[in-house]
Amino acid sequence: MELVDQFLRKINYLRISVTDRCDLRCVYCMKEKMNFLPKNEILTLEEIDRLCFNFIQLGVEKIRLTGGEPLVRKNIIELIKNLNEKKQNTNLKEITLTTNGTLLKNYAKSLKENGIDRINVSLDTINNDKYKKITRFGNLNNVLSGIDEALKYNIKIKINTVVFKNFNEDELFDLIEWCNNKNIDLTFIEVMPMDDTDMPRNMQFVSLDKIYKKLNKFYNFKESEHKTGGPAKYYIGHNLNIKLGFITPLSNNFCASCNRVRISSTGKLFMCLGQNDYVDFREIMRNDRGDSHIKEKIKFALSVKPKRHDFIIDPKIKPYIKRHMNVTGG
Ligand code: SAM
Ligand code: SF4
Repeated sequence: MELVDQFLRKINYLRISVTDRCDLRCVYCMKEKMNFLPKNEILTLEEIDRLCFNFIQLGVEKIRLTGGEPLVRKNIIELIKNLNEKKQNTNLKEITLTTNGTLLKNYAKSLKENGIDRINVSLDTINNDKYKKITRFGNLNNVLSGIDEALKYNIKIKINTVVFKNFNEDELFDLIEWCNNKNIDLTFIEVMPMDDTDMPRNMQFVSLDKIYKKLNKFYNFKESEHKTGGPAKYYIGHNLNIKLGFITPLSNNFCASCNRVRISSTGKLFMCLGQNDYVDFREIMRNDRGDSHIKEKIKFALSVKPKRHDFIIDPKIKPYIKRHMNVTGG
């Protein structure tokens, strides 16, 4: 079975936000004062599992749990365990997660035991004070010890770093060398205009074109053969053992090869991160509709998946996406 959208893109990757809540408040992701959703609006673990199963039966091979912070969701390991069991008799090949890493020290062992072999950890700086500033109150040591714990259990890590204007542009060499020493791949990401934050987006955004050119003088990049089907372009470089990725939603559109859709913690299927259309699966499931109806609606959603996002960062234009990144999880 294959899921194909109206532009003949094969969709085999589902990202699901298991909670809108988070133990940090990264300044580019959220406002300082956030109202999180009441519990009854969030999908139950059983609803998430059922929805995932329907996607898997239609051809999804990879599932990423995200949030908010996925590790703050109560009983998250139970969900992962149930999803992991589906690998045995379906086409599901991989379950992974994107985490801020603050709780990894406690969770690394049980993640590994339940089939998680690779995770993405979001980390924008390795300076204690700067980490506190960008996350508003986080403690870098929790993340660093979490990373070490995950490596101890042989979980492969990729670091994701949002490049933020006048904040970490001057630290990118240090981050690269730090990752290189630990043998961890690193991907840089451009800030995206997902709803309003407390600071205008044009004061946050840095084009990765500019960063690539600066780093290339030093590392003399060559495009890596490594292809994930995702938006990142990977490079290898002089004196680097690791791959360096660049995700450039604004400076270099990659939507033609999109292979994914996203479900919010409330069960809304967003066919594109950068558009507002959705299909509400919580309504469908709570109205006692059967799995064949769910599958029909998934196919319908794919038939209207937009061609591309239209992100724009311009002080004169309000963000047209009315949800923060924690709703769909990046
Ligand atoms: N809490 C987890 C974490 O931080 O890894 C998972 C959810 S977080 C929303 C997923 C990713 O989105 C993180 O790598 C974060 O840095 C990134 N992100 C959040 N807001 C963003 C924005 N406006 N533009 C670009 N990336 C953003
Ligand atoms: Fe939380 Fe991740 Fe958003 Fe930071 S980026 S506030 S860790 S959800």
